[in-house]
Amino acid sequence: MSTLSPANPPAAAPAAGPEAAKPSNFLRQIIEADLAKGTYASRRWAGSPGDAAHHAAGQPDPAKIRTRFPPEPNGYLHVGHAKSICLNFGLARDYGGVCHLRFDDTNPEKEDQEYVNSIIDAVKWLGFDWAQPGNDQPYQASDYFDFMYRAAEYLIEAGHAYVDEQTPEQMRANRGDFGKPGVDSPFRSRTPAENLARFREMRDGKHADGAMVLRAKIDMASPNINLRDPAIYRIKHAEHHNTGNKWCIYPMYTFAHPIEDALEQITHSICTLEFEDQRPFYDWLMERLIEGGLLAAPAPRQYEFARLNLTYVVTSKRKLAQLVNEKHVSGWDDPRMPTIVGLRRRGYTPESIQLFAERIGVTKDYSWIDYSTLEGCLREDLEHKAHRGMAVLDPVKLVLTNWAEVFGSDAYLETCTQPALPHSAIAEGQTPPPDRVFQIGKEVWIEREDFEEVPPKGYKRLFPGNVVRLKGGYVIECTGVGAKDADGKVTEVHAKVIPNTKSGTPGADSVKAKAAITWVGAADGVQAEVRLYDRLFTDAQPDAGGKDFLALLNPGSLKVVTAYVEPSLAAAQPDDKFQFERFGYFVADRKDHAPGKPVFNRVTGLKDSWGK
Ligand code: ATP
Ligand code: MG
Repeated sequence: MSTLSPANPPAAAPAAGPEAAKPSNFLRQIIEADLAKGTYASRRWAGSPGDAAHHAAGQPDPAKIRTRFPPEPNGYLHVGHAKSICLNFGLARDYGGVCHLRFDDTNPEKEDQEYVNSIIDAVKWLGFDWAQPGNDQPYQASDYFDFMYRAAEYLIEAGHAYVDEQTPEQMRANRGDFGKPGVDSPFRSRTPAENLARFREMRDGKHADGAMVLRAKIDMASPNINLRDPAIYRIKHAEHHNTGNKWCIYPMYTFAHPIEDALEQITHSICTLEFEDQRPFYDWLMERLIEGGLLAAPAPRQYEFARLNLTYVVTSKRKLAQLVNEKHVSGWDDPRMPTIVGLRRRGYTPESIQLFAERIGVTKDYSWIDYSTLEGCLREDLEHKAHRGMAVLDPVKLVLTNWAEVFGSDAYLETCTQPALPHSAIAEGQTPPPDRVFQIGKEVWIEREDFEEVPPKGYKRLFPGNVVRLKGGYVIECTGVGAKDADGKVTEVHAKVIPNTKSGTPGADSVKAKAAITWVGAADGVQAEVRLYDRLFTDAQPDAGGKDFLALLNPGSLKVVTAYVEPSLAAAQPDDKFQFERFGYFVADRKDHAPGKPVFNRVTGLKDSWGK
C-alpha cells in the first residue's frame, strides 16, 4: 500500500519553525518538500475558482498551499470526517495555506439543506474557517457543471473520449478483470464528430437514463481497471437542487473531483485510501486538460491516508442513518452517536477532538483506534477546565440526629466552600476560579453504596460505629439505619455530627476519619436528571466482517437516574462541563437542560474502566 511513487516521494527533512513542533507525518513531509522546491510557487489565484484563463488574470496566490474538505451533503458528519477536517484545515493553517469547504453535490440526489447547515456548523464548531478576503461562502461542486461539460467536449474533440452505447452488462463483461484484459467497445472508434453529436444528444435529453455513457479513451488492457476507459458522464433525468432541470447528464465522481480541485487551485488533495487506484486517472485527466489549455498548471496532486476506524462505533452514514431511522437512538445528535453533533452533545470539546486527530496521526496503514483514546483526549482537555462538583446519583437520606444539640436548631445551615478546581488542575499563571459554596444541614443526600448495615471486609465508608468525613463538611459517626421501606430497602441512615471538625478549620484533623464521602445538602441540593451513557455497541468492531451491527447494540447504553446536585451544578448553562467528583465528566445537556431543571449527560468516567 505504501510503496513509493512520484506522488509519494521520500521524506524530506522537516522544516524548522513552529510547524516543526508538531509530530511529523508523510503529508507534512510532502508539503514541506513542495514548499522547499517551490512546486506551487508560480500559481496564480483570481479570487474565485476558475479555469486557466481566469487564474492567469489573477495575482500570485497568497496561499502557500490549498487543501479542501469535500463532503457530500447527504448526512451528518462523523468522527471520521472530523479527522479529515482537522487534517485538511490543520495543514493549511500550519503552512500558510487555505482550506476550502466544498460541498460535493454533483449527484443530483435530493440534497437536504439540513445537512448543508449541519456541516457548516460542524466545521466551525471544530474551530476552523474557510473564509478568505472577499469570499466567505463554501464552494459548491455543482457550480462547475458548465466547465465540466466543456472539459468533456474538449476530451471528445481531442480524441480522448467517446460515447459508448453498449448495455451496462456488456460494458461490465468487456471490462475484463485482474487477470483478463478488457475488450474494446464497438463504439470506441467513432470519430470525434460522431461522438460530439451523440454527446450533445445526451445533453439535450434525447436519450433515456442508461442508454449510453461518455467514456474516457485510455487503455482497455491497462492493469489498473480504473484506466480501462472509465465512464465520465452519464444520463440521469433528475432535478438538481442547485441547477434545477438545466442538466440531464451528470459527471461521474472520478471525473468531477479532480476538476473541482483544479478549478479551486488545490495543491494537495487529500483523500482516503479507497481512492488510491483512482490516482492514475486523476493524473491522466489533469494532464489532458492542462495540455488543452483548460486548466492552470501545476496540477493538484492526490494523496491518500488510512481512514479512521474507531472501535465500538459505526462510521458509515448509511448505518448511522439506520440507527436514527429505526429509532435505536434519539436522533443524529443522540449523545451515543459518533456524529459530530452527537459528540458535541455528549460533552466532547473541539479541543479534545483536535487533540485526538493529532494524536492518532495520519498513516497509510489500516488500523483500528480504540475508543478509549478519544475518551483520554477529552479527559486531558477537561481536567484543567471542568469545575468540580458533588452529585449523588443513587441518593439515600442521611440524618444527623444530634444537629440541634450541636448547632442550636434543626433548621441551622452551615456554609461550606470548596475549590472549583483543585490546585493540581490550575495552570501556571491561571487565576483560580471562585470557590463553590454549598450548605450543610441536618439532612444530606449520600450515595446508597456508601452505607452498609453489615460492612463487607475492608469497607471504610458508613456502617454503624464508623467515622467518615462528609467531603468539605464535617466528620460524622454513623449510628445505623434510620428507616427501611416495606421491602427492607434502607431509606434513611443515621449519624452524629462531630463538632469542630469542619474541613478547613483548625479542628479538621482532630478526629481521624476512615474515608471521605461525597454528598449533597438536602436544603440546597437540586434534583437533576442524569443520563448515564455508555458505549452504543458491545462489540469493538460491530460492523466488521459482515456482522449484524444492530444485533450488537448495548442494551445498557443509556440509564437515566434521578440525582441530587450541589447548587453550583444546578446553576449550569447548557453545554457547561463538570467533573462530578468520583464519577467522571458530565455536561449540561444542550437540548434539555435548563437552569432550575438540570439535565446532565455523562461524557466519560474518570479513568478508562471499560471492560475492566
Ligand atoms: P461515508 O462513507 O460515511 O458516507 P464518505 O466518505 O462518503 O463517508 P464524504 O462526505 O464523501 O463521506 O466525505 C468527506 C471527506 O471525509 C472525504 O474526503 C473523506 O475522505 C473523509 N472521510 C470520510 N470518512 C472518513 C474516515 N472514517 N476517516 C477519515 N476521513 C474520512
Ligand atoms: Mg462519499
